[in-house]
Amino acid sequence: MKATVENIIAPAENIRVINLNCAQKLDYKAGQYLRMAVGDMDGQFYSIASAPHRNVVELHIKKGAGQSSQYIAEQLKAGDTVTIEGVSGDMTFGSDAAKPVVMIAGGLGIAPMKAMVEQIVHEKRHETDIHLYWGAAVPEELYLRMQFEQLSMIYRRLHVHCHAGGNIIDQVLEAEHDLAACDIYLAGRKEMLDVSISQLEKNGADPSCIFYDKAVMKRGA
Ligand SMILES: Cc1cc2nc3c(=O)[nH]c(=O)nc-3n(C[C@H](O)[C@H](O)[C@H](O)COP(=O)(O)OP(=O)(O)OC[C@H]3O[C@@H](n4cnc5c(N)ncnc54)[C@H](O)[C@@H]3O)c2cc1C
Repeated sequence: MKATVENIIAPAENIRVINLNCAQKLDYKAGQYLRMAVGDMDGQFYSIASAPHRNVVELHIKKGAGQSSQYIAEQLKAGDTVTIEGVSGDMTFGSDAAKPVVMIAGGLGIAPMKAMVEQIVHEKRHETDIHLYWGAAVPEELYLRMQFEQLSMIYRRLHVHCHAGGNIIDQVLEAEHDLAACDIYLAGRKEMLDVSISQLEKNGADPSCIFYDKAVMKRGA
């Protein structure tokens, strides 16, 4: 499917937030990701950062060493056409809305968490406690911190914990949640997921209630 870039902002030096207008309504659930190709390059996976009720599809992309992320950071502009090659993803909401939720995001892993938080707020799931943990290498990359903190003043069951440097899983464990009673959502790079899953399981989390994208594990992205 073709989509048009509506606008691009740069909330941090190496990060771009891209809003896309799709030719048809994109069918997806909060927490999923799509594959998008720019220019004549191969498609890459990007988590969708906006909940499905929104009119635009929002992506957060970090510039790295690869061709696509460099093209997006340096050349992609409003009005350009991109190709969305499909949607998938294993990280969608569990069925029990009353269960406390712990979301753990490393870096750009915040994108699918943002979509899920937007979905919970949109559905007015006021019975759901959400603890959102977000770790980034440097404070500037916690670019949504203020937005989440403002939201937590309206949605009082959202608790936001942002941390620059170190390993975000340490902050989760220090908080001593009853992990066995929680649904846990994890997003970020493979190394972060590996460490987090093993620590969560050691500390009582139920493996069947830890949700993350298996594609990250396969690709090592
Ligand atoms: C399921 C899935 C979802 C992804 N979602 C995103 C996303 O929302 N935004 C994004 O920039 N990249 C995402 N990626 C990574 C993306 O597909 C490319 O691998 C990456 O853009 C390649 O960039 P690069 O070659 O410049 O290299 P790299 O230097 O390897 O990557 C650049 C940056 O991409 C980010 N990144 C890499 N893997 C992930 C990941 N799994 N989740 C979140 N961020 C990651 C990191 O911040 C990294 O510093 C995702 C990958 C998978 C498998």
